[in-house]
Amino acid sequence: MKIHEYQAKELFKQYGIEVPFSVLCESRGQIEQAIKKTGVPCVIKAQVHSGARGKAGGVKLAKDFQSAVKFAGEILGMELKSSQAGIKKVNKILVEQAVSIEKELYLSLTFDRTNECIAFLVSSCGGMDIEETAKISPEKIHTCLIKDTFNPVETVKCLGFESDITEKIARIAQNLYNLLIEKDASLVEINPLVITGNKEVKALDAKINFDDNALFRHEDIIALKDEQEENPYELEAQKYGLNYIKLDGTIGCMVNGAGLAMATMDVIRLAGKDAANFLDVGGGASSEKIEKAFKLLISDRNLEAVFINIFGGILRCDFLAEGVKNAIKTLDVKCPVIVRMEGTNKQQGAEILNNSGLRFTVVNDLNEAIEVIKNI
Ligand code: ADP
Ligand code: MG
Repeated sequence: MKIHEYQAKELFKQYGIEVPFSVLCESRGQIEQAIKKTGVPCVIKAQVHSGARGKAGGVKLAKDFQSAVKFAGEILGMELKSSQAGIKKVNKILVEQAVSIEKELYLSLTFDRTNECIAFLVSSCGGMDIEETAKISPEKIHTCLIKDTFNPVETVKCLGFESDITEKIARIAQNLYNLLIEKDASLVEINPLVITGNKEVKALDAKINFDDNALFRHEDIIALKDEQEENPYELEAQKYGLNYIKLDGTIGCMVNGAGLAMATMDVIRLAGKDAANFLDVGGGASSEKIEKAFKLLISDRNLEAVFINIFGGILRCDFLAEGVKNAIKTLDVKCPVIVRMEGTNKQQGAEILNNSGLRFTVVNDLNEAIEVIKNI
């Protein structure tokens, strides 16, 4: 789960990490008051679940009151097109005191799955071009794999700052580590962490991702979820207990079981196409649930075809066929629907589809499915 910068900064404050004073605005009526509270110069920042907002025009420095009002009016409500998250409508902005920046650093903690530990990354080349730095000069990013206790000082020393700055950065790293562990975050990132003109060290940006599987033990974090930021298809799927992830391809697929879903995506790839989604309807899906799942699939406008690949175990093939038939009857489905069913009541399922008067391509096995998908 992702949260907004302003929410992450509240958590930073709880963990003793200094951030600039800021005020959140959710409507135009709040803008002037917010700017009066922060004073000028200030920075107007789009609050969307995306990085690279600065490059997309979502972060602007205002030197005086008038330009602050102007920028805030422009950014609130804008459609922010970032390289990281596509187009996002800006429903909230943060008005933040501008900080005099002497140096921008990068600091993060995340999981290194290959090495099965947490990795601490720090660089003195922070700011909006960190991705470029990572590509062109990866040696400028210092990494420490945390195998045992975390001792950030040694790694921070690589940055070459005087001892009091080194200590301040190390303390922030330690606090960030505590946050990651205690809140079950999968990523905490500060970019930029800045050294100010007064030699203070402050977090100007804040990014935290949480491990969804641990959310059940963090009610305070669940409360931070912003549904407007979620993919609308995925939200709809959650309502019906469907496991759905939107992808970029053109073949919609409906499958039961995560393993079969992944194998199905491979089959689609073998046919030279890409899956439009991952959809696992689960083991004991009813025909109503199948109908909902199918409607969800079909609402994706980029579809070339739908491929239903079901192994009838607890979910019987006739239930599946009934659900799909009912969904197609009420929907305007223009693309071909390919069905492969195996297992319990396969025959009855095929009969329901063949006698429905609707158009299905029922295939006997995956090789046949590949041939049909290839020729779409
Ligand atoms: P993003 O990473 O999404 O582009 P940031 O919050 O990192 O957004 O802001 C982009 C840049 O704007 C920062 O690298 C920093 O240079 C500048 N910036 C952000 N907040 C402030 C602030 N409070 N005062 C001064 N400059 C800021
Ligand atoms: Mg940033």
